[in-house]
Amino acid sequence: MMKESYLGVNVSPLSYEGIIEDLRQRILNGDQSTIIAVNPEKVIAAERDPQVKQLINSSTYQIADGIGILLAAKIKGGNITSRVTGVDMMAKLLEFATAEKLPVYFYGAQEEVVTKAISSIQETNPGILVAGYTNGFEKDEDALVERINTSGAKLIFVALGSPKQELWIQRNMGRLQNVQVFQGVGGSFDVFSGTVKRAPLLFRKLGIEWLYRLISSPSRIKRQMNLPIFLMKVLRSR
Ligand code: UDP
Repeated sequence: MMKESYLGVNVSPLSYEGIIEDLRQRILNGDQSTIIAVNPEKVIAAERDPQVKQLINSSTYQIADGIGILLAAKIKGGNITSRVTGVDMMAKLLEFATAEKLPVYFYGAQEEVVTKAISSIQETNPGILVAGYTNGFEKDEDALVERINTSGAKLIFVALGSPKQELWIQRNMGRLQNVQVFQGVGGSFDVFSGTVKRAPLLFRKLGIEWLYRLISSPSRIKRQMNLPIFLMKVLRSR
């Protein structure tokens, strides 16, 4: 799979369907896979910290979550033409897991959020095998790993925010040999539970979901300043 690189950070050009097809093969081969969402905020963090860069680049799939990467691809003449968001990728993986009868584990967010998210996921994916769940404030990592291993989970969604969730995955995937797919999903459980509303479709279609999120929580301005900074850096890079 040919990756594109923006300021030294890899991005996978595959669509949702492309990733699922690729994963199907990797699962058959017994390979473990990791999915990480890439956005301007993470690219800038990666520029500052080589460990973050290594963490992103060593993932199996780096998805272009957000308009920033798309704009960078436009500037650089890259092949990435549509977004692959973390939350939509998770929705596709849930459908895939249901169809293939692969048990799923949910780790992260507040207890009430993760349980609500699971109920709503069960409604939209009847028959989904829920291996188990743990809220994101569990302190005993060894016990958690043990619990996931005995649950029989094949896919796990980790919702602790970045880079916490990615570090957790990197630290533990070696001892979670039966889990084949790991996705770091940030605030996605909050979305599935209905605690956080996604932008209306029109905003998403126009690629201005960031504007909706900014209006609904203006304190995000600090995080969102990474977008223009990122674009300036891409423009200046060769
Ligand atoms: N969270 C958690 N454990 C922690 C810190 C955060 O489970 O120790 C959860 C938090 O409840 C929220 C998610 O992680 O559900 C973070 O979402 P955010 O939108 O900050 O993540 P992003 O997608 O921006 O990385």
